[in-house]
Amino acid sequence: MPKQEFQTEVSQLLQLIIHSLYSHPEIFLRELISNSSDALDKLRYLTLTDERFKGFTFDPRIELELNETLKTLSLADNGIGMNQEDLIAHLGTIARSGTKNFLNQLSGDAKKDSNLIGQFGVGFYSVFMVADKVEVISRKAGEDAAWKWTSDGKTGFDIEPAERATPGTTVLLHFNADGEPYANAWRLKDIVKKYSNHIAFPIFLTYDKS
Ligand code: ADP
Ligand code: MG
Repeated sequence: MPKQEFQTEVSQLLQLIIHSLYSHPEIFLRELISNSSDALDKLRYLTLTDERFKGFTFDPRIELELNETLKTLSLADNGIGMNQEDLIAHLGTIARSGTKNFLNQLSGDAKKDSNLIGQFGVGFYSVFMVADKVEVISRKAGEDAAWKWTSDGKTGFDIEPAERATPGTTVLLHFNADGEPYANAWRLKDIVKKYSNHIAFPIFLTYDKS
């Protein structure tokens, strides 16, 4: 599939997020963990309500893997996952009607705006404050195909077939210059403790320097 462009509002929003939150870039991690937590909640709900998931063992995990040398962080969950349509709809467009409202409410005050960003659900795009390339590899629960969404957060994204042994989502980010301070295990641990202490699922962090 050829390169796809972001919906115009997405590009505007990306610029706004980057400019209004530049003093709080660490919230990217809160946003990604909260998305994984939502994805795990959704899968848990399916296992309780959907016949097709009756025998499914729900063993929720959120795994952070940092490579300090390559300056990459991957964040994997075994939640509900996304298929090709989901990736396009959820990571390429802003379907929610609250977004205009959100854009109007941005105040220029970084603290207020970072809370607003959480409330209005534009959280994912905050990764582009700290990364110049983001890959999302995902497989939807109940489906066999996996897909990779790749973007530099500037104009658009690519989607191609991928491999993933089990359902869930992996977000792989390549830190940019502003993100380099986060390619540090202690720093990440602090941020997880500060913003994601309330998350109901186990969060693991592994790291290496090679
Ligand atoms: P919000 O979480 O408020 O909906 P986000 O920008 O954080 O907004 O995420 C957009 C959408 O992308 C989510 O609603 C969800 O459908 C999808 N998504 C993001 N991360 C994941 C994930 N780890 N697993 C499954 N779906 C995800
Ligand atoms: Mg979110």
